[in-house]
Amino acid sequence: MTDIFDPSDEFGPARIIQVREPSVGLRATVIIDNVALGPAIGGLRIASAGSTADGCRLARTMTLKSAAADLPHGGGVAMLHPAPGSPENACRQHRVRALACALRSEDQFIFAPDMGSGETTMAWIRDENGRAVGLPRELGGIALSRIGAAGWGLYHATEVALRYCGFKLEDARVVIQGFGTVGQNTARYLVENGAVVVGIADSGGTLYHPRGLDIAELVAIKAKGGSVVDSSEGERLAPDAAVDLDCDIWIPAAGSDVITPDNAARLKARLVVEAADASLAPAAERYLHEKGIICVPDFIANAGGLIGAAMECRGANKTQVLSAIKEKIRRNTEKVLQSVETDGTLPREAAVRLAMKPIVKAMSYRRWSGLSAD
Ligand code: NAD
Repeated sequence: MTDIFDPSDEFGPARIIQVREPSVGLRATVIIDNVALGPAIGGLRIASAGSTADGCRLARTMTLKSAAADLPHGGGVAMLHPAPGSPENACRQHRVRALACALRSEDQFIFAPDMGSGETTMAWIRDENGRAVGLPRELGGIALSRIGAAGWGLYHATEVALRYCGFKLEDARVVIQGFGTVGQNTARYLVENGAVVVGIADSGGTLYHPRGLDIAELVAIKAKGGSVVDSSEGERLAPDAAVDLDCDIWIPAAGSDVITPDNAARLKARLVVEAADASLAPAAERYLHEKGIICVPDFIANAGGLIGAAMECRGANKTQVLSAIKEKIRRNTEKVLQSVETDGTLPREAAVRLAMKPIVKAMSYRRWSGLSAD
C-alpha cells in the first residue's frame, strides 16, 4: 500500500510537464498522476505559486477522488504560476490559451475548474485543444458552478458525518474559510438545511456573527468583486482569525495546508469537512484525529465537482448529476467513517484503502505495472 501522504510511488506521477511560453508570460506545471482508470481530469489552479511536490499531492488527490467515485478517470493538476511583472488577469486569457495549445497532443489530460478558474477559462481551453469539462451551457455544459455541484456533495458529506459526531445540522454553527465557487455553494446548501454559518473568510478578511451571516448578501458582494468584510453586518477580523472562531463545523474551502501543526490546536470545531484539496497538513490531520475531531478527507467530501464534470461530458443532465453526487458521497462518507469507528483508523487511511482498490485492479491489467490485483 502506498504511503497515504507520499504521492511519489509506483502509482504516479506518470508525467510532470513544465510549460514555458515567455512571449505571453506563461509558466505552468502540469502533473498527470495516474491514468490506469482512464484519462486524468485535473483542476486548473490559477493561484499563488505551488511547488511540484504540492502539485503531486493535489494530482494524487484527484486520482483518489475519481477512483472512490467510480469514475473512468485518473487524476492530475495544472498549476498556472503567477506571471512575474504582469498585472493580475492582464494576460490571463493568453496564458491559459497558450497552456492549452502546449498540451494539444497530451490526450491523457482533461482540464477542469479549480481555484481561480471557471466556466469561461474552460471554454478558452476547449476552443484550443477540445479537452475541458465544466463548460458554459452554450458549449454543452450544465453550469456546475451555479448548480453548486461541489457544495451539494459537501453538504451530504457533512450530513452523514454528523451521525458520527453526536449533533445535528440544525442550528450547528459553521465556519467556512474561502468563499469562492465551493465555499458559497456549500454555505447555501448548509443554511437551506438548518445550519447557521457564523463565520466566513476570504482573502480580504473574516466576517463573524454569532447569530449567523446573510449568505445571499455575501454572495452578491462577491459577485461584484468585493470581500465578505465589505458587509455592514458582523464583526470584521483578519483572514487567519477564521481558525479561532467558536463553531461546531469548520470547512476549509480555500488553499492547501491551511491547518498545520502550528495552528491545529486553535480549531474549536468537532467536525472538519475538507472542501479544499489538501487543506490539512498531514501532521495536523493526525493531531486532530487524536483529539477526537472527525475530518472527512477532501477526495471523499469534495468529489461533487469532479463527478458532475465527468457526467457532464457524457451528456448527463442536472437532475442525474445531483442524484449521483448525493448517492456516491453519502455512500463513501459512511464507509470511511464506519471504518474509523470500527478500527480507530485515520479517516484518510480508510479512504485511501477504499479508493486504491479499483486503481490496483486497473493497473494489474497494464503491461508495465508489475502489480497484481490479487
Ligand atoms: P475560488 O477561486 O472560486 O475561491 C477561492 C476562495 O478562497 C476565494 O474566496 C478567496 O478569496 C479565498 N481565499 C484565498 N486565500 C485565502 C486565505 N488565505 N484565507 C481565506 N480565504 C482565502 O476557488 P474554488 O473553486 O471555490 O475552490 C476552493 C477550493 O476547493 C480549492 O482548494 C479547490 O481545489 C477545491 N475544490 C474546487 C472544486 C471546484 O469545482 N471548483 C471542486 C472540489 C474542490
